Amino acid sequence: MRIDVADIKHEVGSYKVTDLAITLEPVELGGAEVGFGRPFTGTAKIWNLGDRLLVQAELQGEARLTCSRCLCEYTHPLSVSFEAEFVEREPGADEPVVEDEEESDKDVSFYSDDVVDMTEVARDNILLALPMKPLCSEFCKGLCPRCGKDLNEGPCGCDGGVEESVDPRLAVLRDLLRKPDANS
Ligand SMILES: [Zn+2]
Ligand SMILES: [Zn+2]
Repeated sequence: MRIDVADIKHEVGSYKVTDLAITLEPVELGGAEVGFGRPFTGTAKIWNLGDRLLVQAELQGEARLTCSRCLCEYTHPLSVSFEAEFVEREPGADEPVVEDEEESDKDVSFYSDDVVDMTEVARDNILLALPMKPLCSEFCKGLCPRCGKDLNEGPCGCDGGVEESVDPRLAVLRDLLRKPDANS
């Protein structure tokens, strides 16, 4: 998503508001592919701060995630808002030194040819907003650790089986401990 900033570049304090539509390629996260069904849409406000441009953006979209308990794919709505700064890079010049970069909590990126490319900062912020442990529902029962049946569809029948008798409360605990790396 490229935004032409020629119209605000020469006047400090000027700004523009523009619609965003950002299409993301699928990414691999924690061994599972994360897809993005439709483009993320929203708005960006871009300010000319003199030595840099400040972008304030809001995006809405969705990710196709794999539930960490039952391994089903589900759609996870996402809404992110973030700020980013862009410093102009003269054509052919080295990367400019951004002196107060460490003091700033914003991402600093570079732009040239009067065009700001929002895709990378948007992707970074969207990936940060993804849950560490995706769950299709907070009530997801997960898979039976013994037979692999999706327990959201009903009991599997092997619980309390004859070959192993475990206190049901301990079994729950054991299953919780097993779950995170059950597939690796
Ligand atoms: Zn699930
Ligand atoms: Zn089972």
